[in-house]
Amino acid sequence: MGPEDGAGTRAENDAMLHLVAALASRERPAVVLSGAGISVSSEIPAFRDSDGLWARYDPMEYATIEAFWADPEKVWQMLWELDAVLEAAEPNPAHHAIAQLQRLGVLATVITQNVDALHQAAGTRDVVELHGSRRSLSCLGCGRARSRDEMVAETRRGEVPRCRACDGWLKPDVVFFGEQLPAEALHRAERAVRGCDDLLVVGTAAEVTPAASLPGIARGAGARIWEINPEPALREAEHIMRPAQLALPELVDRLRERRKGDTDGDPG
Ligand SMILES: [Zn+2]
Repeated sequence: MGPEDGAGTRAENDAMLHLVAALASRERPAVVLSGAGISVSSEIPAFRDSDGLWARYDPMEYATIEAFWADPEKVWQMLWELDAVLEAAEPNPAHHAIAQLQRLGVLATVITQNVDALHQAAGTRDVVELHGSRRSLSCLGCGRARSRDEMVAETRRGEVPRCRACDGWLKPDVVFFGEQLPAEALHRAERAVRGCDDLLVVGTAAEVTPAASLPGIARGAGARIWEINPEPALREAEHIMRPAQLALPELVDRLRERRKGDTDGDPG
């Protein structure tokens, strides 16, 4: 039995039990940092995948801000296809489990590197989108904002959407390579990890800055780091080496069982 079976090794089961105990007893709710790995089972292609959308559209050719300025028609070809993929995607058991952790009161903020909005679709509140949002667009000419749904209603698929005020090009509010991250999101993310007792890193190696700095900030503020990834990447973390869509629903089940046990054993 290995991580692929979803059963986990003894060490992983121990890590899961430690995490359940930690979440059940902490004063301050946990924070989740999520990345592409959590959405793979929702059919969303990661940049690293060797097939799918990014095999046909090299991110370095299509997802840079320079490429957008140079040839918006070419980049929008990719963006329309990506939009169709993201519109069709549904939250998977990992997204739903995270929403349940929040309802159980053991989780506060979710910080995500994903732009698929699947955490929100699962009902999670207080989501910090480090790499921006696909639900809105901005005009590169005058800066006016437009919602994605309004844009889709007004634009023929395949065409570059234009600003109604100045006819400038519209670009989704997702962070392209070569662009700055939204400062406000980064600020919220840092504040969240400073205020938690546990940081759960899910489906990301947290290799790309600024997400890469968040586990260190959390640890510096006294939090414990838990990594839920089939292939662990963080050194100073407790590892649950299983796919998030298996590990997180189990975590929710175990927390519920533990609470039920606590209530049953309560003499009052
Ligand atoms: Zn404009």
